Amino acid sequence: MPDQDRETINPDFAIEVRGLRKIYHGGRGLPPHEALKGIDLAIPRGSFFGLLGPNGAGKSTFINILAGLVNKTAGTACVWGFDIDSNPRNARASIGVVPQELNIDAFFTAREAMELQAGLYGVPKRERRTVEILEAMALADKADAYSRTLSGGMKRRLLVAKAMVHSPPVIILDEPTAGVDIDLRQQLWDYVRKLNESGVTVVLTTHYLEEAEALCDHIAIIHQGEVVANESTPKLLNRIDEKELVLQVDKPVGDTPRKIAGLPVELHGETGMTIRYSASAHSFDEVLTAVHDAGFTVLDLSTREADLEDIFMQLTSKN
Ligand code: ADP
Repeated sequence: MPDQDRETINPDFAIEVRGLRKIYHGGRGLPPHEALKGIDLAIPRGSFFGLLGPNGAGKSTFINILAGLVNKTAGTACVWGFDIDSNPRNARASIGVVPQELNIDAFFTAREAMELQAGLYGVPKRERRTVEILEAMALADKADAYSRTLSGGMKRRLLVAKAMVHSPPVIILDEPTAGVDIDLRQQLWDYVRKLNESGVTVVLTTHYLEEAEALCDHIAIIHQGEVVANESTPKLLNRIDEKELVLQVDKPVGDTPRKIAGLPVELHGETGMTIRYSASAHSFDEVLTAVHDAGFTVLDLSTREADLEDIFMQLTSKN
């Protein structure tokens, strides 16, 4: 690597954008649209990073700018420390993008598709790891099968394999499990987790919030072209400390005061009630004791804590 390249590398971040802005010029009389409003975002090296946001938030625009497929309007973007403007070749070589669509060349075998991709990235023949990557993706026995004969899950894995041909330190998965059934999703995640454990930085966009919650150590939420949250997953989940206690009690609750321990009580059915409380202000024990003190015996109870869905809704519902 030339010395000047070495100097540009920021050791901390896999991806770093500052003031990144994108305006699409509508054309055909449509008004211009600001898809990214000057965002700052730094993705730590080695992380499993979730990029979430409702449809139209700007996620694909962000990814496509990094991949060199869309031109930014303003700002800077670095991949693995390489500026996409001054060092586009190294920036592109540092990233592998797994696209949303299952656009696999039907008439090539898995092996041929991999070799073709390696050729596109200029990976010399002796450095290619086609078999090794196909093995890692559990596709070794399908190496000589035509892509069109592969199942949906296998095609997905082949797309991940293709994104890895040039051994990029960063891999971006754009909605990789949309429409993939639960077993195959699980399989895909096992492979991607292994990749991450081997040191590859993984950036994931997904609509499945529970998936992001389970997999990602860090999550950013984009809404209308702005970053509205960017935190470690536990910290983000801690933002809402509301808990919910759903109770079935031994006698009708109809005439009960609508507050217990000063907390509003929502009644349902003859003997059901829901109490919402702030975990930092009340303990579970305190709430339950208050229910007993109000003269009820609890027959059944379940609790629910805020999840990513609640936080996501709260952050992206504002217009
Ligand atoms: P996401 O991936 O989060 O769904 P996108 O980045 O695809 O969001 O889109 C962000 C916004 O930019 C949307 O309002 C979308 O309609 C608009 N947009 C995306 N691509 C284009 C384009 N080529 N021309 C005009 N507007 C676009």
